[in-house]
Amino acid sequence: MSAPRDRIPVAVLGATGAVGQAFIRLLQDHPWFDLVEVAASERSAGKRYRDAARWIGEGNAPESIASRMVLACDPAAVSAPIVFSALDSSVAGEAEAAFARAGRFVVSNAKNYRMERDVPLVVAEVNPTHLDLIEVQRKNRGWKGAIVTNGNCSTIVAVLALAPLHERYRLKRLFVTTLQAVSGAGYPGVPSLDILGNVVPFIREEEEKLETESRKMLGVLSNGAVSDASFGVSAHCNRVAVENGHTICISAEFETQPSPEDAIAALGAWRGAEDARTLPSSPAHPVIVTLDEDRPQPRRDVNAGGGHSVVVGRVRKDALFGLKMVAMGHNVVRGAAGAALLNAELLVARGMMNGL
Ligand code: NAP
Repeated sequence: MSAPRDRIPVAVLGATGAVGQAFIRLLQDHPWFDLVEVAASERSAGKRYRDAARWIGEGNAPESIASRMVLACDPAAVSAPIVFSALDSSVAGEAEAAFARAGRFVVSNAKNYRMERDVPLVVAEVNPTHLDLIEVQRKNRGWKGAIVTNGNCSTIVAVLALAPLHERYRLKRLFVTTLQAVSGAGYPGVPSLDILGNVVPFIREEEEKLETESRKMLGVLSNGAVSDASFGVSAHCNRVAVENGHTICISAEFETQPSPEDAIAALGAWRGAEDARTLPSSPAHPVIVTLDEDRPQPRRDVNAGGGHSVVVGRVRKDALFGLKMVAMGHNVVRGAAGAALLNAELLVARGMMNGL
């Protein structure tokens, strides 16, 4: 692994939204990256960041960013060689391609390119080798830059909880029910009168994403293509009145069925791929196992590992599938901005951004 000699200038596209703001928080004082530009829609471009964005985290936007001018999401306006994209999917498709064509590395949260066969869909600790798809992508598309994506927020949480078990026991069938926080819908997101004291049993395209992205992330790269894992997935996705933290109830059947004790041992021992263990944002434990009978809970566990860890509990026998458990992770950090940041750090550490 190699750290860059100088901090690399980076930009955030969609910097005014929920995920964009998480990028700004996570990039403060980052040892490898220097956040030099923020960009958003035409509504915001040309304004000072503090006037364009409604800061939804604690306190206020950092002063160094608050006074910056918001730029348009255009490679002619933004000069940084690495751009983190927190763009709405209605615009991410064209904007991200324009940046990649202009020779930039786009590290994206948007759904647009995740399932394209030549685009890496990566959880740093789970499938870092899929980054090698970048070469295929450049060849196919004639881009000097590249697009690397991370998954949908609930899928990342589920995949981190399942990867340690899939590696040893091979998943066969999966049944998941999600309880997803309101911040997953961005800002202003779900109207308060729709969600306070309520559960909404529908999140557009979320079940499909869980079903397809999980198989790609846990798939195998060989000869320049990912063969998706072959397990079956059934997902129910629900929006609940929680601010941050997606909870996922998982029932899983494996080719070799682990006992709850075996599963707890495998989850507890797992540290993820070697080259993702010592990145600046790597949590010491990407998966934390709790034995408390009523955990994980978003209110108590959402900031585990600085929001980068997934907490897994209630690992027990399932009468139909063999094993069941509950996983919970910070959707905006682990499920979005933090996942992208780890992917960018991994690209640097693997020397894939040399020459920037
Ligand atoms: P959000 O709060 O609605 O923010 C959307 C951002 O996109 C804002 O900065 C907005 O800028 C910008 N934007 C909208 N229209 C634009 C346009 N025409 N041109 C340029 N910029 C435009 O959404 P979010 O929750 O942060 O999500 C951002 C992306 O991450 C989405 O693709 C989402 O699906 C994905 N994601 C979100 C989560 C999560 O937990 N929230 C998790 C995983 C992935 P203005 O303020 O100027 O309108």
